[in-house]
Amino acid sequence: MAQRIDVKDLNIYYGSFLAVSDVSMSIEPRSVTALIGPSGCGKSTFLRSLNRMHEVIPGARVEGTVAMDGIDLYGPAVDPVAVRRQVGMVFQRPNPFPTMSIAENVLAGVRLNNKKISKSDAADLVERSLVGANLWKEVKDRLDRPGSSLSGGQQQRLCIARAIAVTPQVLLMDEPASALDPISTLAIEDLISELKASYTIVIVTHNMQQAARVSDRTGFFNIEGAGKPGRLVEIDDTATIFSTPRQQQTEDYISGRFG
Ligand code: ADP
Repeated sequence: MAQRIDVKDLNIYYGSFLAVSDVSMSIEPRSVTALIGPSGCGKSTFLRSLNRMHEVIPGARVEGTVAMDGIDLYGPAVDPVAVRRQVGMVFQRPNPFPTMSIAENVLAGVRLNNKKISKSDAADLVERSLVGANLWKEVKDRLDRPGSSLSGGQQQRLCIARAIAVTPQVLLMDEPASALDPISTLAIEDLISELKASYTIVIVTHNMQQAARVSDRTGFFNIEGAGKPGRLVEIDDTATIFSTPRQQQTEDYISGRFG
C-alpha cells in the first residue's frame, strides 16, 4: 500500500476566480507535509483539492492533475466518493455527531459507505480506531455516551478515529489543533507523528512551531495581493525551510515579518 501524491500544474477556481495558481508538488508515502502561509493564500483550498472536497462547492473546479500512485484523482472514470474514502479529512473544529454515541461516531463513516458489519467486527473496529487515535484508554468504559460528552481535544481525536476507521491511505488535516488548548494540541501532534507510520499526512497550520515539530516537509504558500491567486512559493525539507529557505518571501514569513 503506497500513497504517493503527485500534483502537477494545478489551478483551483471558485467560479471564475482563480484562487490557487499553478501548484506542482510531490508528497512521499508515510510522510507529514505541512502547508504554511498567510491567511487567504489558498492552503485550505489546495488541501480540499486533494480529496475532491473542493468540488462540493457549486462552481468550484480544478485544472491540472492530482495523481495518487500514478492515477489521476480527477480522471473521468474516478468516483469522487471513492476518493474521499481513500483520502480522509479532519477539520479545524472537532465535528463529532453530538447525539451519536462515541462508538457510533467511530463507525459513522463506515456506515455511510453502506458497509454491513457484524457486531463483533464493529466492536473490533471501534477499539482499533480509538487505539489508533490515542483515545481508547480514556473512553473504553463509556463507548455508549454521546460524542458531545468529550472534551474538545478528545472530540478531535474521536474525529481522527472516525477518519481512520474507513482505512484511508491519506489523511488531510485543516488546522486540526487550532481550536484546542496547548495540552490537547500536543496530544494531536504526538498522534500525527504516530499516524505517519501508516498514513501519508498533509496538514495546514498557521502555527509555524507546529509545522516545525510535526512535519518532514513544509510548503510555503503566498499571495501577492487581494484578488490575486495563491501560489506555492517553495517546498522543501522542514529543517531547510526554517533555516535556509531559497526564497526571500519565505525567509520574511518565517521570521515573522508579515502574515
Ligand atoms: P487559506 O486556507 O490560506 O486561509 P483559503 O483556501 O481559505 O486560504 O482561501 C483562498 C482564497 O479562496 C481566498 O481568496 C478566499 O476568499 C477564497 N475562497 C475560499 N473559500 C471560498 C468559497 N467557498 N467560495 C469562494 N471563494 C472562496
